[in-house]
Amino acid sequence: MSTIPNFGRVLECPFNRAHQIPEERMQRHLIKCKKQYPKVKMLQCPLNSTHLMPTEEYMTHIQLCRDRSLVETFRNVVKPATNSGQLVQGVVQPTKPDAPSSAPLCPDEESWDDMAAPAYNPTRYCIENKVIRKAFHLTPSEKRDFYEQERIRHEELDKFACKN
Ligand SMILES: [Zn+2]
Ligand SMILES: [Zn+2]
Repeated sequence: MSTIPNFGRVLECPFNRAHQIPEERMQRHLIKCKKQYPKVKMLQCPLNSTHLMPTEEYMTHIQLCRDRSLVETFRNVVKPATNSGQLVQGVVQPTKPDAPSSAPLCPDEESWDDMAAPAYNPTRYCIENKVIRKAFHLTPSEKRDFYEQERIRHEELDKFACKN
């Protein structure tokens, strides 16, 4: 990454490093440039839609992404003050006022554990959750792309989880 005086931040296009694109135009550039490289499979950073990278660089990018601070903030917002069973779901739900007081403390914990890595990973949850929310604004063909990308991404996350 470099800066050109008076042009703000200039980013390298992930499809062609010769494309030096001002940060604010990158999103539009990527849409056009992607069509010229239909065979290039890139994964999109869940934190910033202008971050595209080859599959093998995905986990490294997630760890180093400069937008990661957003996730850290997000995590702090989501995390309740007390470590209650609700955190397992990752969603801050208001306690149902009519819930019977004799209900088990963590009724959904077991089923959730089947999906998650052995240790609950809030960062992983936040990253995935953020992306899933974005998917609602996509067109059908974008959705297809998105879910294909999600599948690859989950494989990468799983691989990563196994290594750690
Ligand atoms: Zn380009
Ligand atoms: Zn990123």
